[in-house]
This record gives sequence, structure tokens and C-alpha cells, in this order.
Amino acid sequence: MRKTLVAANWKMHGSKAFAEQLLAELNSGLESGECSAEVVICPPFPYLGVVGVAAENVEQLALGAQNLSEQPAGAFTGEVSADMLLDCGVRYVIVGHSERRSLYGESSELVAAKFAAAKSAGLTPILCVGESLQEREAGKTLDVIAGQIQAVIDLGLAGTWHNAVVAYEPVWAIGTGKTATPEQAQEVHQFIRQQLGDAGAETQILYGGSVKAANAAELFAMDDIDGALVGGASLEANEFIQICRAA
Ligand code: PGA
Repeated sequence: MRKTLVAANWKMHGSKAFAEQLLAELNSGLESGECSAEVVICPPFPYLGVVGVAAENVEQLALGAQNLSEQPAGAFTGEVSADMLLDCGVRYVIVGHSERRSLYGESSELVAAKFAAAKSAGLTPILCVGESLQEREAGKTLDVIAGQIQAVIDLGLAGTWHNAVVAYEPVWAIGTGKTATPEQAQEVHQFIRQQLGDAGAETQILYGGSVKAANAAELFAMDDIDGALVGGASLEANEFIQICRAA
């Protein structure tokens, strides 16, 4: 049985006070026992400590980062390694978010190297894949997803998908208010699961892209949707708690 996972991607939002307030609300919102999902909070790097402390005694909550370096250590100004994240209590790390791919030029090969760095340190990578609107309209959705996943498979890591999560995030649905329909998402999730091979049955595949309280339950009801990666709606405590409860 795959456990449901709801991950919050704060992107470059928040402050120390915001993090403390949101975590306090989240802690009491989750306490009531109405959420059986595992919840991962991915704040900006400077707030990992604050969120980590606030999440320490809540069993359901885990700490995640939004990015990492593919390098283990060295003269790489401004970069953060997998070991450093682990050292700070981080358990999950997002790799290959579409904003990293498009705004920072991260290729599928670089994303795969980051995936490998996370795995070798013992972090659980959340590998984001997804097509642009243009690619969807050109009928290339499944080809694009296959290519992004193949770059990771090509590394030939032992147990590639063990302790790894995949997030399907259609680029046209991120921050736009346009969610993929449950059927559109299910089609891609099923395709991804097939591509993961034997391990696919156990790997959590999350949907991301304008997930909110109003659409979470219908997405989670689909066979191959095991949770969500939530951007905008994760910045509002009540909205996010409702998403977690829908899981
Ligand atoms: P969104 O972002 O929920 O604001 O669409 C999702 C993401 O970018 O992970």
C-alpha cells in the first residue's frame, strides 16, 4: 500500500515569523487526527531550521528542501550539498522543478545528477516532471515525460525508485489556477508508473499544479495519484490543512 504524501513547496516566499505562525497552525490542524497523510514542508533554505524545530514533535511532518547541488562538497559558492541538508534534519528534496528547468537552465541530465546526489546521501528525492502547454497541444506529453524519467533511469542506480517520489506537474497548471482534470492526471500517472518498472507499484507519484482544497479530493481519488505537491495553496494554513485532510 502506498502512503499518501502531501508536500508543500513554499518557493521563495515567507519569513521567519511566517514560518513560525504557519507551522503553529499546521501543528494544531494536524493534531486532530483527521489527516492520515505524511506531510512534507519545503521552505526556502534559511527557514529549514525554524520549520525543523516546529515540526520536530509532529510525527506526520517531515522537512524538505527545494533544491540541492549535484556536487558533494568543494568550491561551489552559493550551493548546498545533500549531506548538509541531511545534517540539518532534511529528509526530502525537490529536484527538477519546472522553474529550475526553465529559469535556471537545468537539463534532465543535471536533474538526474541531483537525484543521484540526494539518493546517495540518504535523502528522498521528489523528481518533478511535466510538459509545457505547447508540448501538450502538440501531442508530445508522454514523450516529454518519458524523456525526463529516462534521464534518471540511464544513471543505472541500484534501486533507483526505492525511497524516491515522482511528481507530475504539467507546466501549464503551475500557479495558473488551471488544474489538470483528474482523468488527464491519471493518464500520465499511470504512464509514469509503467515506466518505473517493477518498483513502480510502490513509488509514490504526486500531482502538482494548482492543487487546492476544492479539487484535492477528486485528484486523490484516482488510482495512481498518491498525493500532491502544493505551491500557492501551501502558504495558507487553512487551505493546506484541508488538502491534507482530503488525502
Ligand atoms: P501551484 O505550484 O500549486 O502554485 O500551482 C505547484 C508547484 O510549483 O509545485
